[in-house]
Amino acid sequence: MRPRSAARGLRAFVVVVCLVILGLGGWRDWNERGQEIARINAENLNLAKSLVQHAEDTFEVADALLVDVVDRVETGGILPDAVKRLDTFLVERVQSLPRIKSLSVYEDDGFLLTSSLPGHRGKVNAEKQAFFQHHRDAASRDWFFGPLIRDPLGGDWVLTLSRRIDKPDGSFGGVVQASIPPRYFANFFGRFNVGLQGSITLIHKDGTLVSRYPYIERAIGADISNEPQFLERRGSGAYEYVSPVDGVTRMGGYHRNPMFPIGVLASVGRDEALANWNREFVFRTVVMSLLVATIATLGWILSAELRRREEAEAELSVLAATDGLTGLANRRMFDRQLEAAWLRAAREKSPVSLLLVDVDQFKAYNDIYGHQAGDECLRTIAGAIEGAARRPGELVARYGGEELVVLLPDLDETGAAAVAEDIRAKVEALRVRHEANIPSRTLTVSVGSATRIPSLDRSRHGPEDLITLADAALYRAKQDGRNRVATAKAA
Ligand code: GH3
Ligand code: MG
Ligand code: MG
Repeated sequence: MRPRSAARGLRAFVVVVCLVILGLGGWRDWNERGQEIARINAENLNLAKSLVQHAEDTFEVADALLVDVVDRVETGGILPDAVKRLDTFLVERVQSLPRIKSLSVYEDDGFLLTSSLPGHRGKVNAEKQAFFQHHRDAASRDWFFGPLIRDPLGGDWVLTLSRRIDKPDGSFGGVVQASIPPRYFANFFGRFNVGLQGSITLIHKDGTLVSRYPYIERAIGADISNEPQFLERRGSGAYEYVSPVDGVTRMGGYHRNPMFPIGVLASVGRDEALANWNREFVFRTVVMSLLVATIATLGWILSAELRRREEAEAELSVLAATDGLTGLANRRMFDRQLEAAWLRAAREKSPVSLLLVDVDQFKAYNDIYGHQAGDECLRTIAGAIEGAARRPGELVARYGGEELVVLLPDLDETGAAAVAEDIRAKVEALRVRHEANIPSRTLTVSVGSATRIPSLDRSRHGPEDLITLADAALYRAKQDGRNRVATAKAA
């Protein structure tokens, strides 16, 4: 396991803080966008409702006229005198109503009897028109709202609202028909503000585009029954769509009239409608990014500094535990490890062994070869011995001067003696010349070994006792002629 690092903790913290800031910001922006869209949709829908109501009023006014005319024809008949009076009546009524282009009366054979537009009498036949056929074939006295057609009187686009005239015997007697120009609606829609990219469209229930602001002549009469707002059967709703007329992406509210087969779609350009939100979003994003970048940069600088310190501390702690000359553990480190090994062994009732290694005739070595050569020699010996302690918990340390110490936890007397012999042999095998070391004339070491099973009761044995014992054994090894291992007697 890698050691816990405050620098890494700080970095993780900075990352989390930045993510939280970005996450919260993004979440808020997304919410606000949703609210903005809801507001725009509600506005569109309200506008569509008002405008479709206005359209309904228009058709109701026209229908009131139709009812009046039907009454006049049915009671007054179609003799020349009556038709003359009717003529005047029609002209007067339509003059005062700009929403209605013309009022016409057709006879049962389809020929125009009279109209508010003079000069067409007898020349126009409506036999092929939907409104005429409807009334001829159905006895209903209700109004009929026809599809968008080219006006029989003039050829421009008109919506028709018509009623049937009955003869006294109840048979078909003709049709009264009002023409309402779609252009009128376009002009009226133009009074409302839908921005530069907005549009307002009047749609027939059969899917025909009846009128539109901005008015585009070629769009009138187009079949838009495949558009989403049209496929929607609820009769009212908000949509985002790409206009088939001009390709602009719009957000629109559609509302259908319950009485007449028409609906209004009031739309604004999506980009235009969301421009404010987009601007604020960009601004907020820039500010947020700067903030996050600043936090991240500061965090990183701080964490790099912290890491430098941590590394320096780790280095220091290694240095504090290491002997400068040999690179082995130093005395302080050894004392600490011995203490720990002693306690563990006491708990586990296992042995602890200790080897004291002392270079033979080293004073003389220094005298002959110089102190620096002596140092070099110590390093060589350290390198050779280091490999002797490989098991976990084992430690080779410089005990002081030219004495090294090997801590061997959980190793009995025999095992310790074997390691001691191994060390002795390894140094001898180095074959470093040492003239004063009689009789071998090479560099050798003597090793004192001691093994004890520690007790938790410190009054009996402590780790110092182990050192004393090993020292005594070492003394014996020297006495017995050096270059040998001596083992302290069992307690
Ligand atoms: P013996 O142990 O065989 O009885 O003889 P010795 O000459 O080695 O005696 P002792 O262990 O008492 O001598 C220690 C000598 O080791 C003294 C000093 O000259 C030398 N010595 C101790 N520390 C260092 C060191 O760090 N570098 C060098 N070059 N010599 C050291
Ligand atoms: Mg010594
Ligand atoms: Mg010595």
